Amino acid sequence: MAEREPVIGIDLGTTNSVVAFMQDGTPTVIRNRSSSNLTPSVVALSKTGKMLVGQIAKRQAITNATDTVYAAKRLIGRKFSAPQTQDAVKVLPYTLHAGEHDDIRITLGDKQYSVPEISAMVLRELKLDAEAFFGQPVRKAVITVPAYFNDGQRQATKDAGRIAGLEVLRIINEPTAAALAYGFGKTVNGKIAVFDLGGGTFDVSVLDVSSGVFDVIATGGDTYLGGEDFDNRIIEWLVFDFARENNLDLRKDRMALQRLKDAAEKAKIELSNTKETQINLPFISSPPGGGAALHLQKTLTRDKLEELCGDLISRTVSICEQVLVEAKVKPTDLKEMILVGGMTRVPKVIDAVKTFFRRDPCKGVHPDEVVALGAAVQADALTSTDSEVVLLDVTPQSLGVAVAGGYVRRLIPKNTTVPTSVTEIFNTSKDDQTTVKIMVLQGEAELAHQNELLGEFILTGLRKARRGEVEIDVTFEINSEGIVSVSARDRETGLQQSIQVTASGGLTEDELKRIMEEQADMLLEARSGEELTAKRAELKALMKEVEGLIPQLDKATQGSEFGRDAIAKAKTALEAARKAAEGPLLVRVNESADTLNRTVSLFKGVLERIK
Ligand code: ADP
Ligand code: MG
Repeated sequence: MAEREPVIGIDLGTTNSVVAFMQDGTPTVIRNRSSSNLTPSVVALSKTGKMLVGQIAKRQAITNATDTVYAAKRLIGRKFSAPQTQDAVKVLPYTLHAGEHDDIRITLGDKQYSVPEISAMVLRELKLDAEAFFGQPVRKAVITVPAYFNDGQRQATKDAGRIAGLEVLRIINEPTAAALAYGFGKTVNGKIAVFDLGGGTFDVSVLDVSSGVFDVIATGGDTYLGGEDFDNRIIEWLVFDFARENNLDLRKDRMALQRLKDAAEKAKIELSNTKETQINLPFISSPPGGGAALHLQKTLTRDKLEELCGDLISRTVSICEQVLVEAKVKPTDLKEMILVGGMTRVPKVIDAVKTFFRRDPCKGVHPDEVVALGAAVQADALTSTDSEVVLLDVTPQSLGVAVAGGYVRRLIPKNTTVPTSVTEIFNTSKDDQTTVKIMVLQGEAELAHQNELLGEFILTGLRKARRGEVEIDVTFEINSEGIVSVSARDRETGLQQSIQVTASGGLTEDELKRIMEEQADMLLEARSGEELTAKRAELKALMKEVEGLIPQLDKATQGSEFGRDAIAKAKTALEAARKAAEGPLLVRVNESADTLNRTVSLFKGVLERIK
């Protein structure tokens, strides 16, 4: 009988990555060439021009900070102009640029790399380690991502796999993978929570497990909360006194920053076992005006660390609270709570989680490896015929389309089990509208422009008719990897357009707002969209009222400066209101109504007092 081709499960972490496979029915980690289970997700270009990956790249970071890329996962699938990227630029010692499509480029030596290319180098390293272990090529893998990753981040991770020469069988959520590994080989029935605090991201999920079926009922998290934030708090504390005494911000010196970062992380890890630790950084810098080298020496206690990072821990707890509410479960309804991620070794984190969930975390789960082990279980399940594991996942954020009035019409609410498909009927929003623009939005905000624009496309050739007469089917589909496709179909002619959505993320709120306004003519109308007509009528009534109050105020204030000023402002507001009342955006109508309402109460108040 031919050997089955090996398949691997990969936990592509912000800080560390792990690769595992199913060995004779048991998920097992594959050690890397330095005999370690964890491979740092670090890529570097050495001074001699060699590309280094993993531990060896991490080790030379101090002497080669600008050519060492870590935490690339915080950047994957994001746009350069996105606020999270701009935050990262400030703290990362390596250099980021905007690519042609506002994508992120990372400079290493004299070359620019996309983020998926960097992640691919880490994946390729794991693939090579696995191939060394198996003694044969490995082509197929399951890769995990944080549950809170959006469509763009998932796509970019898949791209990274492809660049590394892997066929990505599936992208699965990290907490789901953890639950899979935890539940493997035992009979688990009931609801479990997975709390994952890693180097850069935080995730919490509630799953319902019964006879081999893993159903995620709610998930939440923060793609910008993890061990690095703790490290940064320690760095701030370290440099604060130093800056005052020496008039020097060490963080501005990239080499010093890298040393501070290493020392901070080391201290944090030590404080998981001890109450107090020494931080010693000799020759950290030289004084600005010249003179003897400066040293940094401080003692950090566990209490101090807890004080510095208390709010970060509280944030994880409030996210847990939220997710339990969404899952409609109480802590006491849970059967088990699983801790994942290196940061769950911090005693204060364990305490906080124990207090909130009112139970001890489950034993026997290795926080660093459990995600990769789960990915291996899934990889095996997808490639063998006798696996009993069924995995049901949910979509982490709601999906919808932009509709006239500046709102979102949600088609798929968050926490819907995937794969899923939903069709809804929409109408044209204007007379003789022959094209519609489908803007696909992801997020929870009411107003369209406050969500993330995942993608857009245009359906043309509609029959000329009165507004609302033409009917369009809009269908959203999410496959089992959380990847979204959207199609629109003219019900009369059967004409159809569709896209597989790739995130165009990173558009700012303002840009999205502008696009929406410019293209308002082409938007759809949700079937229940009678609101705009009603609000327009209200606005017109308000305009009449203000117009009536102006001469009264003019008379009462007798040409005083206050009166002239107030009337000028009211006239400007009326002009804006006139435009809003004629325009297609409900948001604008509402804004104008607010302004005019304020004008009315101001005018009435003044008239009251002068009487
Ligand atoms: P990721 O999933 O983001 O790659 P990991 O789960 O590997 O991250 O966790 C890495 C984080 O855990 C780092 O911030 C690291 O400093 C921290 N960490 C690892 N071990 C410990 C420990 N014993 N005590 C405190 N923090 C730790
Ligand atoms: Mg992790």
